[in-house]
Amino acid sequence: MTTVLAVANQKGGVAKTTTVASLGAALAGLGRKVLVVDLDPQGCLTFSLGHNPDRVESSVHEVLTGEAALREVILDTEEGISLVPATIDLAGAEAMLLMRPGREFALKRALATLDNDYDIVLIDCPPSLGVLTLNGLTAADSVLVPLQCETLAHRGVGQLLRTVGEVQQITNPDLRLLGALPTLYDARTTHSRDVISDVADRYEMPVLAPPIPRTVRFAEASASGATVLAGRRNKGALAYRELAEQLVAHWDTGADLVTFSPTA
Ligand code: ADP
Ligand code: MG
Repeated sequence: MTTVLAVANQKGGVAKTTTVASLGAALAGLGRKVLVVDLDPQGCLTFSLGHNPDRVESSVHEVLTGEAALREVILDTEEGISLVPATIDLAGAEAMLLMRPGREFALKRALATLDNDYDIVLIDCPPSLGVLTLNGLTAADSVLVPLQCETLAHRGVGQLLRTVGEVQQITNPDLRLLGALPTLYDARTTHSRDVISDVADRYEMPVLAPPIPRTVRFAEASASGATVLAGRRNKGALAYRELAEQLVAHWDTGADLVTFSPTA
């Protein structure tokens, strides 16, 4: 059975794309067959996995509009994961899809054609709560919410959780909220910890461990078309590896996910 995980937060710059690429590479390192789906018209995931969105022939846009089969657009990457690329065409998909009945189900229907070829599908949602993110949430078994550890990180979280609740009521009753993933975490200051405690107090949402540390390696990696898992040993890669191990244990054996305790 394929497990589908959407990574969503309508705020930009919280490390959604970084999480999909790095977690995807870490899961592949654990021997899983991984497919990542770029649902952002900016194509940052596509780019960071070594493909130029301007040169991609067909993309998730053609899949959502029914002009191409999902299998036809899948690309290989150096990270050992498969990619459904995005191009700027996807910006028009929103308007196209809005005219169609069942518009929230386009991605779910496309993934169903893969016949469990992949163990894990990770979906990189765009920074909005529009029809593309609704497609991601409707296609997913669970959703992970990266939260940047800075003041006001919680702004918009209430709205995101309402959207998740609506999706659970209307298009995907089985959707599970896995929790928040603290990103750009600075262990040297108490500030990051305070932000996480604040989020944990305000919302009924587990905050998962380990927090992903802030390190310059992420910027270096995405500029080179690889993930932090590909380079030298570093704390960012270690954190995503640890998260991958936890998720695999959770999916395989039902083990509880470790949550972050700000006092530790
Ligand atoms: P989103 O997809 O939510 O918009 P990105 O994954 O594109 O966010 O990340 C935004 C920026 O932050 C990128 O430049 C990325 O390289 C950087 N970044 C992500 N995670 C980290 C981290 N743990 N430490 C330092 N920089 C990071
Ligand atoms: Mg992104």
